[in-house]
Amino acid sequence: MSKQPKAVSLISGGLDSMLATKVVMEQGVHVEGINFFTGFCVEGHTHAIRKKDSSRPKRNNALWVAEQLGIKLHIIDVIDEYKDVLVNPKHGYGANLNPCQDCKTFMVRKALEWSEDRGFDFIVTGEVVGQRPKSQRRDTMPVIARESGAGGRLLRPLCAKNLEPTLAEREGWVDRETLYDFSGRSRKPQMALADAFGFEDYAQPAGGCCFLTDESYSRKLEDLWQARGSRDYELDDIMLLKVGRHIRPSGRFKLIIAREEGEVRYLEGYRNQFTSLRTVSHNGPLALVDGEPGEQDLELAARITARYSRGREADSVSVEIRRPEGAARVLEVRPMAAEAIPARWHV
Ligand code: SF4
Repeated sequence: MSKQPKAVSLISGGLDSMLATKVVMEQGVHVEGINFFTGFCVEGHTHAIRKKDSSRPKRNNALWVAEQLGIKLHIIDVIDEYKDVLVNPKHGYGANLNPCQDCKTFMVRKALEWSEDRGFDFIVTGEVVGQRPKSQRRDTMPVIARESGAGGRLLRPLCAKNLEPTLAEREGWVDRETLYDFSGRSRKPQMALADAFGFEDYAQPAGGCCFLTDESYSRKLEDLWQARGSRDYELDDIMLLKVGRHIRPSGRFKLIIAREEGEVRYLEGYRNQFTSLRTVSHNGPLALVDGEPGEQDLELAARITARYSRGREADSVSVEIRRPEGAARVLEVRPMAAEAIPARWHV
């Protein structure tokens, strides 16, 4: 009896990778999922923190998809290696700081390395020709296969019939006739296939699988790089860009001000790393100070924090300034008027 072929499938948590995986599983292939954690993933972070998203299930969609499909999921931390993809993308960025083509190439290459070490025969992705303006064009798809080193080992079951036959088809591990020829931006074929498989619940596509497609997030990341004078970052930096109101009065510092209770709790976890401010005479938010503020900067930071407290109309608000090592003092300040905070300070 010939051995059962093995494939590793890139699981983002969205519908396309779920369908592509299922199509290959239906062919009797042993499939395991792989999900790369870059630090920019949308999954289960701000959704879990913010109240406004409370109606959405607080789940990691990649894990959830793997569970629905009944496959193993390997979640792999690529935070450090991903920096080079983001900072120096050979094929440039999309509409924001999303280096989609280089990102896809990187992920397929990582999946290839992973699969070669473990005896997997091919790689599956949920890409669809023409679905995304840059990374999923007909002419970029072979480039991703080639530059990742995967070549014919990369199978895209949802649009395979629009592409040259791959190794899995040539070897008969999957029957090309059971694959699909989806193309373009319409989601209707995917929804019909989801219906056919009986998938009633799946993550709705919302522009992209990571924060780098988000304009406001990308602006904050550019601002961080500019203020630091280097296009580098740590995981905490990029996690904090997902949370709070960011106000930068000067190149020396910016404030990250919680907008609601969930964000207050989240930012509290960083009080040992950043100087933090909190109004004590009135209810108000917690704010972190990122940078190297001087004494006058801290007074300004306190006035801005007071502006977002219940004491915004008061003549004086007490603001506690706490250093990361725990030393604290209280400043009495006049809250800044909304119109005195220039729009350009809002990152
Ligand atoms: S949206 Fe983000 S994770 Fe998805 S391909 Fe683009 S850069 Fe990569």
